[in-house]
Amino acid sequence: MSDAVSILDEVAAALEPYGLVPRGGLVFDEVDQAPPPGEGMIAKSVVLVGHYGSSIWPHFMEWRQWHPNMIDPLDAWSKQALSEIAADFGAKSVFPSDRPYLPFQQWAGRAEGLRTSPLGMLIHPEYGLWHAYRGALLFDHPVAFPTHHAPACHPCDTCAEKPCLSTCPAGAFNSASFAVDSCRHHLAGPQGATCMDGGCLARLACPVGRGHAYAQDQQRFHMAAFAGI
Ligand code: SF4
Ligand code: SF4
Repeated sequence: MSDAVSILDEVAAALEPYGLVPRGGLVFDEVDQAPPPGEGMIAKSVVLVGHYGSSIWPHFMEWRQWHPNMIDPLDAWSKQALSEIAADFGAKSVFPSDRPYLPFQQWAGRAEGLRTSPLGMLIHPEYGLWHAYRGALLFDHPVAFPTHHAPACHPCDTCAEKPCLSTCPAGAFNSASFAVDSCRHHLAGPQGATCMDGGCLARLACPVGRGHAYAQDQQRFHMAAFAGI
């Protein structure tokens, strides 16, 4: 694993059985500063780990059969998978749920050149809103990332209608904020069954990457987790 580029290839191979992929990364500098040293590691670079579409879902569901009744099971699955892989690579795994929060969204935007949609989540030019980051690997040396070219055009810049902002039946979104209480109130009532069963209607209204939308049972899982059910 001495060659930095081959490390990315080997990380990709280690992630593949989980349906996870490396999603770029960055070498820390004065602008993108490393997180505080933890457990002896001074991080020099970070590799983001996540998925596109529903690639993790069958792997997570199989694991879940053997790990019932876990609190926040997707986070637990991610931590188990990435902690084992990190140990194999002499890296340190970190997660979006860690406290204090790490700047995952900032790292992710830099790693893949993605920008934020009006819904607050990053939008990918191919996968739209149907992708996520499950964690990251910190390395004590600078990983040599292949040159990536930021998408020439941010999908939301050319989306005249912006249906994501007008579809929510609770009116929870505007271009500046998300009224989380309005959303949760709607979900708790009978009218919320459509979102609870099939996913957030505002997210589903986005035309970008619609073919990669999560499967219904995955939508239901995420909605139940969000609603705290
Ligand atoms: S509907 Fe349009 S503005 Fe909204 S997230 Fe999708 S591309 Fe962006
Ligand atoms: S889950 Fe439903 S109520 Fe909540 S923001 Fe999405 S569309 Fe609106």
